[in-house]
Amino acid sequence: MEKTPLSVYIHIPFCVRKCLYCDFPSAPGTPEEIAYYFRVLQKEIRSFEALGSLRSVSTVFFGGGTPSLVDPKYIGQVMDLLRALYPFDKEVEITLEANPGTVTKKSLAAYKSMGINRLSFGLQSVNDGELKLLGRIHTYEDFLRSYELAREAGFGNINVDLMSALPRQTMEKWKKSLETVANLEPEHISAYSLIIEEGTPFAEAYGTRQGRIYLPGEETERAMYHWTKEFLEGRGYHRYEISNYAKADRECRHNLVYWTGGEYIGFGQSAASYVDGRRFQNPADREEYPQYARTAYGNFKKTRPLSLKEREEEYMFLGLRTARGVSREEFKERFGESFPGTYEKKLMDYCSRGFMEKANDRIRLTDKGIDVSNVIMADFLQD
Ligand code: SF4
Repeated sequence: MEKTPLSVYIHIPFCVRKCLYCDFPSAPGTPEEIAYYFRVLQKEIRSFEALGSLRSVSTVFFGGGTPSLVDPKYIGQVMDLLRALYPFDKEVEITLEANPGTVTKKSLAAYKSMGINRLSFGLQSVNDGELKLLGRIHTYEDFLRSYELAREAGFGNINVDLMSALPRQTMEKWKKSLETVANLEPEHISAYSLIIEEGTPFAEAYGTRQGRIYLPGEETERAMYHWTKEFLEGRGYHRYEISNYAKADRECRHNLVYWTGGEYIGFGQSAASYVDGRRFQNPADREEYPQYARTAYGNFKKTRPLSLKEREEEYMFLGLRTARGVSREEFKERFGESFPGTYEKKLMDYCSRGFMEKANDRIRLTDKGIDVSNVIMADFLQD
């Protein structure tokens, strides 16, 4: 019997220190805390052993936090355990998020020997002043050294994260960041606009009326976005999701699983899962997670599967994030029924107003639609 592909996310919640804009579940950890976390994590992974008889692993993603901060031996233990419990696809994609300045020749060789074949560097900017303002621990030089070491170690699939719309950032500065990174020719670039998250030092500094004047206005922010697409297309990258660009066949397969309704299981503090039609999430609190992890499989069994309507809404909501968009045929194949009349009406209305377009049998957002994508996508969650 053919096994269902499963993607695995592993959350590593440790960082050197907190970046000033960050609201991810991450914090510094002592060596003892790190060792304890990995013991609990392995227990949680083991408790889902039963999934191994029906699933084969198609992608693995170590995210954080800063996975490259912990001793690679821990990453190796997780990889060994996963391989013992699940068959791996031949073409499995295994990504590790790394922060510039936290990898060495030795750690990169260790990752390679474990089968990790994709690295994702959180650079954010090539401007050291901007990096300092963000509270990042690295300089551009640190990144460059890490990137070169990764290439020397044989990594042929690298993503670089960049962030636009930073405080006091001009269009010129953003262009410089993107051009500098594109000149290095990574296989993938994620280019996100800064979001001011509640409860962060950035919210205090820039979330107020006085603070907002230091942020690029909406018009500049959108101009940065449109220039990014145009520039990267000229450099051989295609946009396959609102903020993600890849060279041919170098899309992040793991993230595509999230956006196309595939199954994934997340292990670790705050990790989210979608298995057997059930969505569930581990506690984000470091104290609460170990307690929960002990009975993780039992907790999963108690969750209720999403209703048909919820799954249909998700298909629309997530599908519209991607450059492929949504399709009537795919919808019917997946749910056994046609687009509900309300979806048809909305889609046709957005098409006639230029926010969406038809491409063969699919419907997707136009550039004008992407500018207001949050509003449009939410429209499909309100029926
Ligand atoms: S490195 Fe990433 S996860 Fe860690 S504090 Fe900075 S933004 Fe947050």
